[in-house]
Amino acid sequence: MLRLSCLLLFATGLVTAQGSEAITVDTLAGPIRFLASDLLEGRGVGSRGDELSRAYLESQFRFLGLGPGAADGSYHQAVPIVGIKSKISAPLAAEGQGGAITFEGPTDFTAWTGRPSPESRWDGLPVVFVGYGITAPEQQWNDFKDADVKGKVLLVMNNDPAADPTLFAGKTRLYYGRWSYKYEEAARRGAAGVIIIHTDPSAGYPFQVIQAGHEQEKFNLPFDPSTPTLEIEAWASNDASTRLAALGGHDLDALRAKAESRDFVPVDLGVKVKLSTQNTVREFHSGNVLAKVAGSDPILASEVVVLTAHFDHLGIGPPKDGDPIYNGALDNASGCAAMLALAKAMERSPLRPKRTVLFAAVTAEESGLLGSLHLAKNLPVPVKKVIANFNIDGINMWGPTEDIGMIGHGKNSLTALAEEIAAKYGRRVQPDQEPDKGLFYRSDHFNFARVGVPCAYFKAGGDFLEKRDSRRRIKAAYTTTYYHTPKDEIDERWNLEGAVLDTRLIFDCLLSVANADRHPSWTPGDEFEKLR
Ligand SMILES: [Zn+2]
Repeated sequence: MLRLSCLLLFATGLVTAQGSEAITVDTLAGPIRFLASDLLEGRGVGSRGDELSRAYLESQFRFLGLGPGAADGSYHQAVPIVGIKSKISAPLAAEGQGGAITFEGPTDFTAWTGRPSPESRWDGLPVVFVGYGITAPEQQWNDFKDADVKGKVLLVMNNDPAADPTLFAGKTRLYYGRWSYKYEEAARRGAAGVIIIHTDPSAGYPFQVIQAGHEQEKFNLPFDPSTPTLEIEAWASNDASTRLAALGGHDLDALRAKAESRDFVPVDLGVKVKLSTQNTVREFHSGNVLAKVAGSDPILASEVVVLTAHFDHLGIGPPKDGDPIYNGALDNASGCAAMLALAKAMERSPLRPKRTVLFAAVTAEESGLLGSLHLAKNLPVPVKKVIANFNIDGINMWGPTEDIGMIGHGKNSLTALAEEIAAKYGRRVQPDQEPDKGLFYRSDHFNFARVGVPCAYFKAGGDFLEKRDSRRRIKAAYTTTYYHTPKDEIDERWNLEGAVLDTRLIFDCLLSVANADRHPSWTPGDEFEKLR
């Protein structure tokens, strides 16, 4: 059994908003136990576990008395997905004044197509080094200047400029620093492809993470013909990238040093590359499960506060110690459990929310945040009516903390709101401790930010009320040892008392936004402010 003691909750003497007492250790433990069981086979997108998860979540929402949240009056929003598996049919071959090199995948590089076609190729295309590959008018930064990169292959640095702390939010990674931005911006400029230069610091993880995806199926929403795509998207080791530049007589470190300045101009490397892939394309459906507690105010009920938590995980994969099931107990059966507990509390609360609260259990987060992307593009109400989004992706399994973590701290007024609520309970909101990792762009709330909706992503705090150091160590071990492995499964040593406190705090945040006089807003100057 997961630990059931509630002693600490009483000992802290906290009284939360009416209704949130429905959030208990048991209400959290039950759904985790089911969703993370081997029966669900790791809830891989498009699998039987995917369908079973959705059926379970819908039945739970119905059982709790929530109404359907999808536009068609059901609990289900279909999410069409395109899977593409690219096999390298001819390896990356480069030619320049220094001779010719053939690079091997996945030792030197990996590559996949950016579009749903059976074959993709670079046929002796010129390579241009474009620094960070960023166009950011508000920072007076444009790496491309007047260079015409149409039909060319761009060699690009990961992350965003770091030399000047006043630019690109200093150490904090902005969306400009995410690898997906590099591909998107290159496609907008008509390039045929991109090679991202891998370094561990600029990625935030080792090259093995990239290699693990070599020739694996990648997922997208159906392609919109008006959105430009790349013939091939590639990612190369630092060593391979250095040799590629040297082939044209260039020193990659010297090129990178120039790229730290606004005056940087793209450099044609004098190198031509060939590469081709054969692609297997398939289409299938998954879905989001949507349920709501309707607002009680006749006017404000048309406005919506959204809570998101993804239910999918990695399914069945390479075994670890003989176990092939990636249960995803913490990631994110636990977030779904918190969502169900919040739905129960909200439905039963005597303090009815004035605005509608939408509970969105979304699919395909692990495949590229696709369920939330589809939802943000196909909201059940106009986007202006969606006033805020809170996201949960993993809850605190290690015991009560003084703090609660917030990814996206300071980006919008939800931070101040959460801080005020936390202070009421003698707690505080802890900003992201690893701002260079870009976690704000790596879970479902990001798709709400992209359509301008102020959002925040709650995480477990680290300031444990008891056994501070040992619990911090156990929490840190989750990321290094359990995260995205078959070992993320139910652990009888877990202590959900902290998760109860966190989820009750989130309940207050939801209710407070749902009843507030004013809409949440972005912090002036934030990268998403202009989208609202
Ligand atoms: Zn997750």
